[in-house]
Amino acid sequence: MFKGILIEKDEAGYRAGVKDIDEAQLPEGNVTVRVSHSTINYKDGLAITGKGPVVRKFPMVPGIDLAGVVEESSHPEYKAGDAVLLNGWGVGETHWGGLAQKARLNGDWLVPLPAAFSPQQAMAIGTAGYTAMLCVLALERHGVKPADGEILVTGAAGGVGSVAVAVLAKLGYTVVAMTGRPKDADYLKALGAKEVVDRADFSSPGKPLGRERWAGAVDVAGSHVLANVCATTKYRGVVTACGLAAGMDLPASVAPFILRGVTLAGVDSVMCPRADRLVAWQRLGSDLDVAKLGRISREVGLAEAIPLAESILKGEVRGRVVVDVNR
Ligand code: NAP
Repeated sequence: MFKGILIEKDEAGYRAGVKDIDEAQLPEGNVTVRVSHSTINYKDGLAITGKGPVVRKFPMVPGIDLAGVVEESSHPEYKAGDAVLLNGWGVGETHWGGLAQKARLNGDWLVPLPAAFSPQQAMAIGTAGYTAMLCVLALERHGVKPADGEILVTGAAGGVGSVAVAVLAKLGYTVVAMTGRPKDADYLKALGAKEVVDRADFSSPGKPLGRERWAGAVDVAGSHVLANVCATTKYRGVVTACGLAAGMDLPASVAPFILRGVTLAGVDSVMCPRADRLVAWQRLGSDLDVAKLGRISREVGLAEAIPLAESILKGEVRGRVVVDVNR
């Protein structure tokens, strides 16, 4: 038996609780991992509360991230004792995930734990941080350089936002952090933001084009926020879009794209090819100040993770939450 969060849905309703789970119930897979840490991402909040259609099979162990040690493997690249991590691939949605002491899955989904990080630190980064790095890589791929000007990070006090601010600042970019929590301005400045701007100024319908300010942006919000960010991006600037914290819609005009040559670059972490994941994790190893991870993250046990699912959807969680599944 092992402990894990189990989501059930039946005539008694949709519910999540910490349960003792029989190993015989583990899904199929060629690698079994003894999980040490997982995390709570926005998507885990949707899964645990049932407020978004994230979970596709029941019962489900949520958790789109995990770090741990291989216990058993018939996959050619992994053997017992290897330290590994996993982000996405539908884990915690269609396949049992990381918020449990054990996971069995397809070894192709695993990434060797980078030498730069402990399992706890890798989960302080988690899907949110690895997505932030995918956004930074997209800005670089589209040619955005520190000398080009300010980079705006939306939802800056959240998980993706916090890591994006820290990485961009370390790379020498001038980072402007947008937040709905002005009380967290000192936190954002400590991560490397030069200036903090108010989310309220971006949250209502705006003009098709505004004063040009951003050389690039990392957007986790969508909706009016993304539309206003595009409208205020400089000529040939690049906006990376990875989230929907403000909404799934995009009430924008084509003006920034056809008159200013702005690029809107979509970023997906879930099905991102393995080669790109390896690059992202390697770059996190070199371009994220590990000392900042302590400031960005805090640790909870399995049972404490459940109420945090509600909090993250309300935008109340600052930075990242690591879950020690043995606590
Ligand atoms: P998170 O920690 O909850 O961060 C989201 C942040 O967005 C909040 O902390 C808040 O920051 C801001 N926010 C909340 N409500 C908002 C609103 N109505 N309008 C504008 N901003 C709002 O979540 P996360 O794990 O970083 O994920 C952020 C988003 O990215 C989510 O939508 C998630 O689904 C998405 N995501 C996508 C991928 C992908 O593969 N594409 C991967 C990871 C995450 P402030 O208080 O600082 O404003």
